[in-house]
Amino acid sequence: MSFSTLINCMDGRVQRSCNDWMRKRFGAEHVDTITAPGPVKRLAAGDAAELLKCVRISVEKHGSRAVAIAAHPECAGNPVEKEVQIEELQKAEAFLKTEFPETEVVALWVELDGTVEEID
Ligand SMILES: [Zn+2]
Repeated sequence: MSFSTLINCMDGRVQRSCNDWMRKRFGAEHVDTITAPGPVKRLAAGDAAELLKCVRISVEKHGSRAVAIAAHPECAGNPVEKEVQIEELQKAEAFLKTEFPETEVVALWVELDGTVEEID
């Protein structure tokens, strides 16, 4: 069995597209999914102990080799402009890389039409 890990918003509009994208991108059978309202905001601020605890279970117990953090437009949990969310995604990605140095980490911008874009 193979796993990847997705930290996503709880918003129902972005679940299916992100799950499909993760399975395709990492070739992992299962996507462990940790959801919260606008989680990128908390990760960018380095204030995400609960989220990290979940990611750690996925990485250490399931052997996940890839962790993604996703954000999307019209986020009720993080109602700021796309530009701000992109900056938060970059900070969150850097933070996750320091926490999980052995694991590939990517940041995703997910449009409501299902388009998923990897952020550099
Ligand atoms: Zn949201």
